[in-house]
Amino acid sequence: METTQVKKLKNFINGEWKEPSTEKSTKVYNPANSETLAEVPLSNARDVKAAAAAAVSAQKKWALVPAPQRAEVLYKTGLIMKEKKEHLARLLTMENGKVIEEARGEVQEGIDMAFYMAGEGRRLFGQTTPSELKDKFAMSVRAPVGVVGIITPWNFPIAIATWKSFPAIVAGNAVIWKPATETPLMAFELAGILHEAGLPEGVLNVVFGSGSTVGEAMIEEDVIRVISFTGSNEVGRNIAGKCGSRLKKVSLEMGGKNGVIVMDDADLSLAAEGILWSAFGTSGQRCTACSRVMVHENVKKELEDRLVQAAAKLTIGNGLDESIKVGPIINRGGLEKIQNYVDIGKSEGAKLLTGGSVMDKGALKNGCYFAPTIFTDVTPGMRIAREEIFGPVVSLISVKNFEEAVDINNQVEFGLSSSIFTKDVNKVFAAQRDLDTGIVYINAGTTGAEIHLPFGGTKGTGNGHRDSGVAALDVFTEWKAVYVDFSGRLQRAQIDVEEGS
Ligand code: NDP
Repeated sequence: METTQVKKLKNFINGEWKEPSTEKSTKVYNPANSETLAEVPLSNARDVKAAAAAAVSAQKKWALVPAPQRAEVLYKTGLIMKEKKEHLARLLTMENGKVIEEARGEVQEGIDMAFYMAGEGRRLFGQTTPSELKDKFAMSVRAPVGVVGIITPWNFPIAIATWKSFPAIVAGNAVIWKPATETPLMAFELAGILHEAGLPEGVLNVVFGSGSTVGEAMIEEDVIRVISFTGSNEVGRNIAGKCGSRLKKVSLEMGGKNGVIVMDDADLSLAAEGILWSAFGTSGQRCTACSRVMVHENVKKELEDRLVQAAAKLTIGNGLDESIKVGPIINRGGLEKIQNYVDIGKSEGAKLLTGGSVMDKGALKNGCYFAPTIFTDVTPGMRIAREEIFGPVVSLISVKNFEEAVDINNQVEFGLSSSIFTKDVNKVFAAQRDLDTGIVYINAGTTGAEIHLPFGGTKGTGNGHRDSGVAALDVFTEWKAVYVDFSGRLQRAQIDVEEGS
């Protein structure tokens, strides 16, 4: 297995790697084997102030660069990311643990976003519309909000950063980015790539440090007009409250409790494959991970057998090894949380079909591994059926019909992703209408978003905004209405309108 030199990271402010204003730092470990990968600064509010000053001055100039030219920088960014894809993917596997195939997929998502948002540089569409008055022209245009703050989680350390920073950059904003302390290496790499692609100094600034210090300082910083956050509900609610009282725009993407429905006419082989991929990919640490299966009672036993057999074939270990299918959990805290939920499930009366424990023997002894876990005979009220576990644990709930399955799917507080396996076209259309989630899959698992569609959830998953797709531009732009009167006289809207004129 390859190792990397321990990197001592610095903040990226005004186009330079700068020592933070504190000596405090923390180590970053590879969850596959506990090897130390990096030392990351625990910056403070002074570093956020320095980033804010750089961003304010850079943004004024950046907003005046024509959008197609801003887009050129993202296009070059995409090309450099493509060249460095394998390097980035391997580093991503090392800091986050996801298997190399998935890491390559995540980097590809960033590349796709670079090219997609580069295209937006020649669109950024507004509207033109007739005026109610003669010799008057009306339109609306997108204007950058100014300086934006992005706060990202460890589970998709490069993809989510690109979902947020690339639309912000193409729209003419400057960005202050606080990556998760667990996964700073993707931030180090991405900042370097944007710089190499020609992004002017100060347009992207990275401040490393804890959420409670750097994140909170970003919320308190007046010049930051938008906070775009992805992470847990607990932290998201706290951020929303603080931003609300400051009248600061906030976009939240939070947790999920994503369900798959398997009807009795489904292709069970396909359903089992889809469930396995959604439940155990990224070791279940995806916001869109499948953690509930509402299975028709007629096919419950067969699906259980198929899932257990397939789970037994999953190889667990260091994700850099191409033969491994399930990598480690991010850290020991994550392992404890998952084990706690498994214990809760058992005490609630759920039946454990497979897994259910930490794996720490032989080659796995220095890492953070948890066995892919399947519960059955779960009821909708159980905590393991309602709360986000964020690990490789999936619960089967028996249902009598389609209506009951949809009802159970919609009962949880989250609304990110859902799916149905069926061959009945009527159920397909009813499901896409009735499933109360921001993303719905038909005959596929709950994961696999594409970057040109809106990404996000209903209810407790978010606050109505979306990452990805054109919708992401709404977070990072203000609508400006522009009226051009070329009549040469004062015309008063609503007053000087002559009927039939
Ligand atoms: P956290 O909420 O713990 O952390 C997310 C980010 O917020 C980190 O950068 C963290 O910093 C920062 N943060 C922590 N406390 C504060 C604070 N008080 N103020 C400002 N920022 C703060 O989530 P995780 O990193 O553990 O990520 C897992 C969660 O993210 C899951 O719930 C998952 O469902 C959700 N998620 C949602 C997605 C979606 O699109 N809906 C996609 C991916 C994940 P630090 O950790 O460095 O202290």
